[in-house]
Amino acid sequence: MPVLRDLFIALSENEMLNDASKKVGLKFGTNKVVGGITIEETIERFKDINSQGMSVTFDNLGEFITEKSDAVKEKNNILNMIQAIDDHGVDASASIKLTQIGLHIDYDFCVENVREILDTARNVNMFVNIDMENYSSHDTTVQIVDMMMKEYDNVGTVLQSYLYNSAENVYKYKDHRTRLVKGAYKENPRVALQKKDDIDAAYEQLIRIHLTEGDGFTSIATHDHIIINDMIDFINEQNIPNDKFEFQMLYGFRKELQTELVERGYNVCVYIPFGNQWYAYFMRRLAERPQNINLVLKSITKD
Ligand code: FAD
Repeated sequence: MPVLRDLFIALSENEMLNDASKKVGLKFGTNKVVGGITIEETIERFKDINSQGMSVTFDNLGEFITEKSDAVKEKNNILNMIQAIDDHGVDASASIKLTQIGLHIDYDFCVENVREILDTARNVNMFVNIDMENYSSHDTTVQIVDMMMKEYDNVGTVLQSYLYNSAENVYKYKDHRTRLVKGAYKENPRVALQKKDDIDAAYEQLIRIHLTEGDGFTSIATHDHIIINDMIDFINEQNIPNDKFEFQMLYGFRKELQTELVERGYNVCVYIPFGNQWYAYFMRRLAERPQNINLVLKSITKD
């Protein structure tokens, strides 16, 4: 349903609706896919997930940050969450978005913020993933990731299979902890594959390369059971040990599949967004799978 996908992506980028959503709390069933508004309540979700045998990576929600003061606020929120995770002894890592901490405001300011987050995380032995956003941020994100990888050993990033350049970058990051995804944004055919079958085939190929070519830990981040099953077959054929990879899924999506993978002995990590800026995140989930609208309908009929 490409029309619906484009509509939800356009809605996710609407700044007015993003602003409005910050004021109304978790609405339309988003509490099923967002861990909480405050750090305290989100830590309780982390504990629930840990008690089910899964680790967590957190995402401080928020995009369209254009003021330094807002970027500092978001960075402090991330630092506070890292501290709270350490205080509560929960099994969680961080996922950060560079546009939230100044990428589009001032390059050096952003780098300084990333270093502060990586230092704080390193002090408590925590891994930090630098998420990949849309292509307009790609080159500067990669530049910062590469610089940070020379300075820190607790940092990794994401490869999006729809981007042509991932076929090269997978070799660059083969010895680093890396999350592999299909890609969540609408990109130009000049830089990205457009057809689902091509994206899926490129995705499986990237996973195979990352699992076998280097020493890096591979995070297979998908809800696609067909790809998960193909990859489990490949992992078994190649005798890849379970401590070399994990499956990652978003909080609230395919919970039965998450549990099944844990029961089969695989590592599963749940990506849990938190905070009041849930709107763009939720619209992107609807763009990926318009059937997720069921969450909205269920919440409305319940209320
Ligand atoms: P899809 O191609 O959406 O679905 C394939 C098939 O899987 C569907 O046809 C259906 O049969 C099944 N399926 C999928 N979802 C469901 C569901 N909810 N219920 C039942 N069946 C379902 N993207 C980025 O660009 N940058 C990032 O940094 C990034 N980080 C991510 C982190 C995590 C942990 C995850 C899971 C995704 C991340 N993404 C990121 C998003 C990713 O790029 C995809 O857009 C998203 O995961 C949708 O693709 P998919 O692989 O899950 O499967």
